[in-house]
Amino acid sequence: MRILVTGGAGFIGSEYVRQRLNSDPTARITVLDKLTYSGVEANLASVADHPGYTFVRGDVCDPDVVGQVMAGQDAVVHFAAESHVDRSIDGAGPFVRTNVTGTQVLLDAAHRHRVGRFLHVSTDEVYGSIGEGSWTEECPLTPNSPYSASKAGSDLLALAHHRTHGLDVVVTRCTNNYGPHQFPEKVIPLFITRLIDGKTVPLYGDGRNIRDWLHVSDHCRGIDLVLHGGRAGEVYHIGGGTELSNHKLTGLLLDAVGADWDRVEHVADRKGHDLRYSLDDGKIREQLGYAPQVDFAEGLAATVSWYRAHRSWWEPLKERAGLR
Ligand code: NAD
Repeated sequence: MRILVTGGAGFIGSEYVRQRLNSDPTARITVLDKLTYSGVEANLASVADHPGYTFVRGDVCDPDVVGQVMAGQDAVVHFAAESHVDRSIDGAGPFVRTNVTGTQVLLDAAHRHRVGRFLHVSTDEVYGSIGEGSWTEECPLTPNSPYSASKAGSDLLALAHHRTHGLDVVVTRCTNNYGPHQFPEKVIPLFITRLIDGKTVPLYGDGRNIRDWLHVSDHCRGIDLVLHGGRAGEVYHIGGGTELSNHKLTGLLLDAVGADWDRVEHVADRKGHDLRYSLDDGKIREQLGYAPQVDFAEGLAATVSWYRAHRSWWEPLKERAGLR
C-alpha cells in the first residue's frame, strides 16, 4: 500500500511513519511536510534509508504540490495541522489556513486521483468540554477554541467528501498524546525540560482541568487499525484510559525529576480553558480490537528519560521558538 502521510515530520506523524516503516520492509510512505516551527525532519532520520520512504517538503494548502504527491497513492493519513491552542488564541489565521483550507485541498486531490482511503486525524477537543461521562462518536461538535473550531471544520469537510463524492473517508479523534519527539511547548515536554533545567513550571489556574493521556505509540497503532479496518464515513475514538487533572500530572512530573511544589508557579488561566475532555472509545475496542498497550507510569518515566537524553533535540527548538 502506498501511503501519503501529511505532517509526518511532527510529533505524532513521525511516530506513525517510524512504526510503519520499521515493521514492514515493503511499506511505501511519502511524507509531505512544510517543516513549520514544529516539524523536524531529523525525527525521521532512523527510517531515511528505508527503500519505501520519500520526503517532500511542501504545504498542504498548495494544490500543485498536493496534486503531484497524491498521484498514485492508495491512502492518505492526514496529520498536518497547526495544533497548539495557545497559539490559536494569539491568532487564528494560520489555523484556519492549514487546518481547514489545507484539508480541503487534500480532500479535493484525493477525490480527483481516486485515492482508496483518506484517514483524517482529529481531536477530542472538537466536542468542547464535558463535566461528567464521556462523548460517543455521535455527540454534536461544540468546539470552544479557534484550534478546535478549525479541527471541527476540517472533520466536517472530510465527512462531507464521503457523503457528497463517495470518497472513502475515516476520521479518528484521540485524547492528549504524550511521548518522545513532542514539541516542547506542550505541557508535558515543557514541564520536563524546564524542571531538568532547574526552572519553575507555569500551572494554569487552579490545575483542575482534566485530560485523558494517550501514549503516541498507542495512538498510532489505533490509527493503523482504523486505516485498515474502519468503515467508510465513520468516526473512531482513540483513548488512553488515564484521566488526570493538570495538578495531579504536575505532581507526577515533579516526582519524576525529584523536584518540589515550590517549583510550580500558578499563572492566569488560559482564556476559555475547557475543563474536561473524555472520550468513550468502546467502538474501536469492540470493532477493531484496539487496546492501549503503554502503562501511563512507565510511559511517563520513559518520556522523562528521553528528554533527559535528548537535550540536543529540544534545546535548539526551544531557542528558535523563543520558549524559555
Ligand atoms: P505537530 O505540531 O508536532 O506536527 C505537525 C506537523 O505538521 C509538523 O511537522 C508541521 O511541519 C506540519 N505542518 C504544519 N502545517 C503544515 C502545512 N501547511 N503543510 C504541510 N505540513 C504542515 O503536531 P502533532 O501533535 O503531531 O499533531 C498531529 C495531528 O494530531 C494534528 O492534526 C493534531 O490536530 C492532532 N492531534 C494531536 C494531539 C496531541 O495531543 N498532540 C491530540 C489530538 C489530535
